[in-house]
Amino acid sequence: MTSPRYKRVLLKLSGEVLMGAQQFGIDPDFVAELAGEVKAATETGLEVCLVIGGGNIFRGMAGAARGMDRAQADYMGMLATVMNALAMQNALEQLGVHTRVQSALQMDQVCEPVIRRRAERHLEKGRVVIFAAGVGAPYFTTDSGAALRAAEMQCDALFKGTSVDGIYDSDPKANPQAKRYNSVDYDTVLADNLKVMDASAVALCRDNNIPIVVFSIREKGNLARVLAGEGTQTIVKKG
Ligand code: UDP
Repeated sequence: MTSPRYKRVLLKLSGEVLMGAQQFGIDPDFVAELAGEVKAATETGLEVCLVIGGGNIFRGMAGAARGMDRAQADYMGMLATVMNALAMQNALEQLGVHTRVQSALQMDQVCEPVIRRRAERHLEKGRVVIFAAGVGAPYFTTDSGAALRAAEMQCDALFKGTSVDGIYDSDPKANPQAKRYNSVDYDTVLADNLKVMDASAVALCRDNNIPIVVFSIREKGNLARVLAGEGTQTIVKKG
């Protein structure tokens, strides 16, 4: 693997990535593969913060659409992200990677609370820090959680691993002519409502000048490629 151009990054994985080929939940084999990619990244000396969504288990908006109280449903979504964080912690530790989970909702029996200085120390010691439960408040998403942690941990970039290989000017599944951007500025993403991350997450990255790299995590070896500035990706940065 080529040496990465970054010292510290935040890797955001959508919960749905953990499903592998399943329709729901966690595919342990695929999580193990992802953990292998994260391990390879750490072996280059890169400091890695991880944020994992919860969409493979529960999304607050989906619950609210079916009549649930939105805040209650969002707390369930946040709990789903903790399950995913524990699954990833397990997979990483089985590969010998030291990790800590820090949750924005306190859960002393299973993980640490979010404590920035402690997270800093973990990273210095080569541990991967997995931030769970987003920002710890309803009406947010883990994209906002990822942007917030990337800012407070002073990450050089936010890598968003999803099922698509970047940002398109329209939905590539619906429009075969859709064009993928190699790079695009924050304001275009916001003005054109390009589906990358929610607006609050994009704005937080813009205000703190944190580049967002969108890439497909489903392609094997892709994390290493994008960390080295190669492979297919879209970078959101200042225009
Ligand atoms: N959530 C929340 N506040 C947060 C982060 C997450 O309320 O700060 C809830 C929200 O209901 C969300 C769910 O947790 O739908 C799962 O997170 P997300 O949708 O971001 O997961 P992803 O789409 O990345 O899998």
